[in-house]
Parts: sequence; structure tokens; C-alpha cells
Amino acid sequence: MASGRSLFLLLQVLLVTVLSVSAYHLPETAGDDVVEVKRSQREFDYFALSLQWPGTYCRGTRHCCSKNACCRGSNAPTQFTIHGLWPDYNDGSWPSCCYRSDFNEKEISTLMDGLEKYWPSLSCGSPSTCHGGKGSFWGHEWEKHGTCSSPVIRDEYSYFITTLNIYLKHNVTDVLYKAGYVASNSEKYPLGGIVTAIQNAFHITPEVVCKRDAIDEIRICFYKDFKPRDCVGSKDMTSKKSCPKYVSLPEYTPLDGEAMVLKMPTDE
Ligand code: 5GP
Ligand code: 5GP
Repeated sequence: MASGRSLFLLLQVLLVTVLSVSAYHLPETAGDDVVEVKRSQREFDYFALSLQWPGTYCRGTRHCCSKNACCRGSNAPTQFTIHGLWPDYNDGSWPSCCYRSDFNEKEISTLMDGLEKYWPSLSCGSPSTCHGGKGSFWGHEWEKHGTCSSPVIRDEYSYFITTLNIYLKHNVTDVLYKAGYVASNSEKYPLGGIVTAIQNAFHITPEVVCKRDAIDEIRICFYKDFKPRDCVGSKDMTSKKSCPKYVSLPEYTPLDGEAMVLKMPTDE
């Protein structure tokens, strides 16, 4: 009888331990904007530098505001811009919101010119922060992904300057341009050719994400010492976000004057 009760107690203790441990190690596997802080996530395995193609992203712009780089008219970006530097796990999942460090734009004030040029927001939306509020695109990327870059990157300034540096060292737009893959609203390019151009330049396989047949993002990956390596998703050609055999790189089309003029003052 007594040993039956102890066995029951032991099982209860074990169950509670297993449940609490797994609750603190839930990595994120699917993209969503519900950002929550998870404690004690294990150290990441590698970095993915996620680059977005404004020609594709800006096609979805319905109205304008001053912070949205799609609304800069002829000064809108025409090269891949930075989405974020993301610490990832080798199993395809990733940590997020690893510790509390509220984004402070003052810490990166000396980087503003580079950030506005190479890491602009292509949206008027205010993404959620890790602690229930709303913030800027940069704040979202730092809190959600940047805080998980420890011990390689330990503070906000280092996160942004490191990301700018590796972006500038790996000019994907230029690599594609030199291989003949330029923005066009009529051409379709073989996905294999685009991947090969990047393989030849950096000796790694990138991950390519499409919106229908248009390239939406290209991700290039790095070991913790920032030497290039293959991305885990590069082998996953069966995922719903993989691209068709022929893809496009849409040109940026400035929004019509009406959307700009009517909506510019409202920075919601
Ligand atoms: P989506 O569902 O649009 O692909 O992704 C939504 C968000 O989930 C991304 O903006 C990013 O914050 C996160 N995310 C998506 N894929 C990855 C990934 O492979 N690694 C990391 N670290 N985050 C990702
Ligand atoms: P992620 O997909 O990185 O977790 O979240 C991106 C969040 O930032 C979304 O809420 C999205 O609306 C917002 N956002 C603001 N600017 C941009 C941008 O330029 N690109 C992307 N992908 N999301 C942006």
C-alpha cells in the first residue's frame, strides 16, 4: 500500500518535471506575430540573414506612411534589404524573445543612415514586441531574434552593426545582377540558376522563399563565427513556401499619387 502511494507520488513528480521543462523549451516552428517570452531556451546553432525583395513586398502596399520605404517613390529601395538576422536551430526550429531587453532607438542612433537605407521597414504596421506592446520593425527584430543571439551578440548595438556588416559583405543583389538576374516584370528566371549564382559566389546553398512565383526572401546562413554555411531550409523543397521552377523578381512600381498624398500624414 505504502509503496503504491510512493510510486504514485514519484510519477506525479516526474510528470510535473517533464511538463515544466518542456514548457520552457518550446522553440518556434511556424511564423506568427504573437510574440511571447520563453525562458531558458537553449543556445542557437547558426545565423540566418533574411533578406527581403522590395519589388515583391511593396506590391502588397495599399496605403502609405512616412516610415514605409515602399512609399519613397523613386528613392524606394531597388536591392534586397534586410529583414533580420535570425538565430536558428539545426532541426528547423528557432528560439525567440530570449530575455527582456526593450528596444531603445537611441542606442543605434549612429547607425541610422545605414539602417534607413539597408534595413527599412516596408510596411506601415507596428509589429508586436515581446512584452505585449507594439513597436518598430527594428524593435521587433531585436527583441524577437536579437536577444537570442547570445553569447555571440550580447547587446542591441552589436546586433544592428553586425547585421549591417555581414549584409554589406554579401551583396546578393549584385551577385544576381552579374549572373543576369535583374528586376523585371516580364522575365521568369530558373530557380536553379539563381541558387547556383549564390552557391558560386558564397559556396553555400541559400533558402529562397516565394510569394506565388515571385521571390519574396533570400536567406543566407552563417556559422557562429560568420563563415557562410548552408541554410537548413535550403533542402526543404517540399514546404508550402518553396518556389516554383521559374520565378520572377518584380520591379518596384511606385504607388499611385493618390495613395501617397491621401495617406501620408497618417502614420498608423
Ligand atoms: P513567415 O510565417 O512570414 O515565414 O514568418 C513569420 C516570422 O516568423 C518571421 O518574420 C520570423 O520572425 C519568424 N521566422 C520564420 N521563419 C523563420 C526561421 O527560419 N528562423 C527564424 N529564426 N525565424 C523565422
Ligand atoms: P516577423 O515576420 O519578422 O516576425 O515580423 C515582422 C513584423 O514586422 C510583422 O508584424 C510585420 O507586419 C512587421 N513589419 C514591418 N515592416 C516589415 C518589413 O519590412 N518586412 C516584414 N516582413 N515585416 C515587417
